[in-house]
Amino acid sequence: MPTHQDLSDAGPGGMPKRAALSAAGPGSMPKGARGSVESAATAAWARQAPTHPQPPLNAPYVLEGATVVLPTGPVQNGRVIIDGTQITTTAPENAPTIDVRNHWLLPGFVDIHNHGGGGASFTSGTVEDVLKGIHTHRTHGTTTLVASTVTGDMDGLVQRAGLLSELAEQGDVAGIHFEGPFISPCRKGAHSEELLRDPDPADVRRLIDAARGRAAMVTLATELPGGLDSVRLLAEHGVIAAIGHTDATYEQTVQAIDAGATVATHLFNAMPPLGHREPGPIAALLEDERITVELINDGTHLHPASLQLAFRHAGADRVAFITDAMDAAGFGDGRYWLGPLEAEVADGVARLVESGTIAGSTLTLDRAFKRAVTLDHLPVKDVVAALSANPAKLLGMYDRVGSLEPGKDADLVLLDADFDVKGVMRKGEWVVDPQLN
Ligand SMILES: [Zn+2]
Repeated sequence: MPTHQDLSDAGPGGMPKRAALSAAGPGSMPKGARGSVESAATAAWARQAPTHPQPPLNAPYVLEGATVVLPTGPVQNGRVIIDGTQITTTAPENAPTIDVRNHWLLPGFVDIHNHGGGGASFTSGTVEDVLKGIHTHRTHGTTTLVASTVTGDMDGLVQRAGLLSELAEQGDVAGIHFEGPFISPCRKGAHSEELLRDPDPADVRRLIDAARGRAAMVTLATELPGGLDSVRLLAEHGVIAAIGHTDATYEQTVQAIDAGATVATHLFNAMPPLGHREPGPIAALLEDERITVELINDGTHLHPASLQLAFRHAGADRVAFITDAMDAAGFGDGRYWLGPLEAEVADGVARLVESGTIAGSTLTLDRAFKRAVTLDHLPVKDVVAALSANPAKLLGMYDRVGSLEPGKDADLVLLDADFDVKGVMRKGEWVVDPQLN
């Protein structure tokens, strides 16, 4: 058990709000009248224009004056109109306005590979723990999150799939990502070796079924016996087959892509390095336009030059920034359990106690954004694509999330000029109330 259990009892600040909302039944409230929107909008309104009446609760309102990052790039002095849970095109002339000048507005982040946060693990723990982890990442701008599991025994994973699929049905997570047990012992990373197994399609099928239509992705070492058949099975069921924790050659990787794999699980990490005579999986994954490459931009998992190489070679449309976060993300240093393995987190870097292997990250996507823009000097438009649009497209959710466009969910991140989070909205509800100077 995490040694931070005592702290976890306190619960994150936003949880009561959520509980209150679900008790009342969000559907029973008038559009736009959700409690936190009301309080946030009212508070901001009061600061900006104290002599004006409060904005009506059931009418569209406008976030005005920010640099709004659209799929085509940043637009200065832009506006986003919120109507209930969605972004809309027009607002009445007298619509209430929140002045967000000198800020950035980005679409909410989409994390397709995330094992936990806030002291909680998605692989173990109660429903409340999982919700706490989700909430922690939401406060850092991740409004769409796929919950990842680590290697466990099949019965345990099947059981876990049941619990997480219920959270997916409620809309709390966007799907389930099984990382392991079908991975290579040579590239096991922070997965327990004795529980690894070859990707027998029957076992893969068992997980797909247990997830009841909510399996989003399975990471597997496709060179193992049954690997290619498993890739085909996943593709047939609309589940992303991700190549990772793999010891495959270049040729074997090409075969797996031809069989239907579409994602590289944390490119560079847990796979053979690029060699001049043995290019390995990295070359195959980077060069193939059918592949989206996951990158962990935490300053620990990748040298900045490797990040640049991937970004330039794959192109901005084929990169998805992920956290691969474990329990300590948004929480703190200490001892944690990753499935059956114990990890020590020091200075924000998680390592297995026994071997010293890096064990997931403590990254949140707001930090990934800030690093990419300020340290890696990548264009904001490309970074936002890698954090929102590309992963949303992979999940088949781009019609609902992934960009600030009318008709989509009002999922957005408000950043100040230093790229620090000053507000987060999910489906029209402020998860982090806007803090404006
Ligand atoms: Zn992972």
